[in-house]
Amino acid sequence: MAFVITSPCQTEKAAECVEVCPVDCIEEGKDQFYIDPDVCINCGACVSACPVAAIVEDFDLMPGEEKYLKEAEEFFKS
Ligand code: SF4
Repeated sequence: MAFVITSPCQTEKAAECVEVCPVDCIEEGKDQFYIDPDVCINCGACVSACPVAAIVEDFDLMPGEEKYLKEAEEFFKS
């Protein structure tokens, strides 16, 4: 289980989530920020910090949003 940053981040990139993450697992990508799903401890702190409600738990991803989890996995692999 991990939290995932979805499309609203792409127009905002506010970065408040980075400041509140206790395990420093959020990094800036080209188009949006990403959460490292292998490091995220599911504390939820980033969810309330995000001004555009872009962060959801992986099991709450809507159809079509699973790609954001895949993108995050690939981002931290490279
Ligand atoms: Fe970081 Fe907690 Fe958000 Fe995971 S849920 S990305 S550990 S702030």
